[in-house]
Amino acid sequence: MWEKAGHCIGCGAGEEKARLYDFHVLTVRTLAVRDLDRHKKVQSLGDFADFAVCEGCAAKRLAKDLSPLRAASRSLIGFGIVLVLGIALLLVDFLVLNRQLVFLMLGAFAVICGVLGLVSKWKDASERSEELRKMGEKEALYEEAWEELKTHAPKRTRIST
Ligand SMILES: [Zn+2]
Repeated sequence: MWEKAGHCIGCGAGEEKARLYDFHVLTVRTLAVRDLDRHKKVQSLGDFADFAVCEGCAAKRLAKDLSPLRAASRSLIGFGIVLVLGIALLLVDFLVLNRQLVFLMLGAFAVICGVLGLVSKWKDASERSEELRKMGEKEALYEEAWEELKTHAPKRTRIST
């Protein structure tokens, strides 16, 4: 009954080329049901589906996630920009705008957001890398293959009734 997917959902590599991690998953469907006067969403269990992720894709993701700096680079850059803009705004306010309260508050807000964002993203990423490190390579690869599947799996199929 379980037919293996046969190729990697990330890069498309087939069984003959790479070792594949096979996953047999139960899909969840979200149905938009039209009632008399309003829309409702109903979730139901769908069919079983088979996916596979190759060792290469899992290893690539593992290498990235083992380094918090690489794993979180995008959000770190984002919050870094917010922080820098906040500081710039405060400087301009102090040096040019004669300490107007509005800009002072905006700048302070951006600085706080930036710092909190940086700290929390960094913490998440380093906790994750610590977790993966503790697992041992085999388990960590399997874990990352699963994460890779969640990234690539089809998210929505809309069926209206
Ligand atoms: Zn792959």
